[in-house]
Amino acid sequence: MLPVLVIDRATEARLARSPRRAAFYCAAVAALDAALREHGTRLIVRRGLPGPTLRNLARASGARAVAWSASYDGAGGHADARLQSDIEEAGLQAIVAHDASAIAPEETSGYRAFVPYLAVWREMTPPTFELPLLLRFAATDLQSEHLPIPAEFGAGERSAECDAAGARTSFEAFLASDALQYAVAANVPADDRTSHLSVHLSFGTIAARTVVRATLERIADPFLLVEERASLKLFLRSLAQRDFFLQLGWFHPITDDAPLQEKMRGFTFARKHASLDAWRSGRTGYPLVDAGIRQLHATGWMHPHVRAVAASFLCFDLGVDWRIGRDEWDGYLIEDDPALATGNWQWIAGVGADMAQYPRIYNPERQRRRFDPHGAYVRMWVDELAQTPAPSRRSNAGQIELPMFSANTYPQPVVDHEKVAHDFLVHYRDHLGSATASPEGARRSSR
Ligand SMILES: Cc1cc2nc3c(=O)[nH]c(=O)nc-3n(C[C@H](O)[C@H](O)[C@H](O)COP(=O)(O)OP(=O)(O)OC[C@H]3O[C@@H](n4cnc5c(N)ncnc54)[C@H](O)[C@@H]3O)c2cc1C
Repeated sequence: MLPVLVIDRATEARLARSPRRAAFYCAAVAALDAALREHGTRLIVRRGLPGPTLRNLARASGARAVAWSASYDGAGGHADARLQSDIEEAGLQAIVAHDASAIAPEETSGYRAFVPYLAVWREMTPPTFELPLLLRFAATDLQSEHLPIPAEFGAGERSAECDAAGARTSFEAFLASDALQYAVAANVPADDRTSHLSVHLSFGTIAARTVVRATLERIADPFLLVEERASLKLFLRSLAQRDFFLQLGWFHPITDDAPLQEKMRGFTFARKHASLDAWRSGRTGYPLVDAGIRQLHATGWMHPHVRAVAASFLCFDLGVDWRIGRDEWDGYLIEDDPALATGNWQWIAGVGADMAQYPRIYNPERQRRRFDPHGAYVRMWVDELAQTPAPSRRSNAGQIELPMFSANTYPQPVVDHEKVAHDFLVHYRDHLGSATASPEGARRSSR
């Protein structure tokens, strides 16, 4: 085997979108090269068109096959297909491997809904490829171009840490402790005790197969408490959700831009809104939404539950197109998983794989009261609220009230949630032209 990295225009463009992503990518490539050197070889880097570049390398090295990891979004899938025909036309074998998912799409024959997919996924055990066979490298005197550096993707001097062994160690620590409380942590942003694996899974610095297999082994521990086992199962469900969205992108590449649900393809979301910039910059006046956006800007990651609330706010409270939100976050996220971004944004916008009768509209204040009752998360990320005193009184409904809206530099809410959620449902009903989607659904679907 000859390890090769080809950096083409599409890779450059993707990395140039998010400086943190570019820095992490370069660190991951450097770590891979260092690991290969420990095995007596190194990465051969080339910049250019993948087809001709790989054909030339195969000719120069005598390789008979070219293997690479599949892409799951529409654009990546087209590029894979082009490369496959380029390689095959040159008389070489092309092997497109499912390296990103724990369970390959073909194993589950294309589900559009998550619940039946999960039932099938749970019955499967991911393969393991950790075989010594893969460490037999060909001797070569082929020269490599320099390893990628963040500056070539416009990310200046920014640097990142990426340590695959460290990722494995922190995952093991997670499995030993926080994973056992995942059921709570997955919703409580201030705790920050989800796995933070998404970036490593996205760049392959830890394999989804490894994570799923280790979690299954942990679940088999007979001394776990019932709640602990339930938490681990919920964590597995998250990993299944990842595979689900990857296979959705694989079987439905059209969803890059078009809703999965045919009935929603003609539905018009707005492209503009007077408060769109407020949402982009985390100044909507809804503390949970703003804290999430500011966490993303500051770190390149946002707590999973807050992502759902902030995305719901864009799609339903502002009525703005999910593609605008997806593309906006793409410029900040370190994760490089377009199929997961699309699948989740469509799910939240009610146009994708969530087949609920009504869109699930999150009430951003109710969510904050419920999952950040003491304001620890919003005070951590929203500077204007950092000095807000801890909650001192309860409302009539028994909920803890924070004097958030009285902080004088913090904006007033840009919209009245109840009203705009109702208006959205009217628009939704009109689109479907069905009496079943009544505005009353706004109340029922508002969480
Ligand atoms: C609107 C929206 C946009 C998102 N965009 C992205 C994206 O661009 N890239 C991305 O990788 N994830 C995306 N997610 C999914 C999820 O929020 C992140 O993967 C998660 O925040 C990662 O944090 P974690 O690793 O601590 O997750 P944990 O809660 O510890 O979960 C473990 C792993 O399960 C997988 N997982 C968990 N939830 C989901 C989910 N809803 N969909 C798919 N996989 C999941 C992830 O690989 C994650 O690392 C998005 C979710 C929403 C609601």
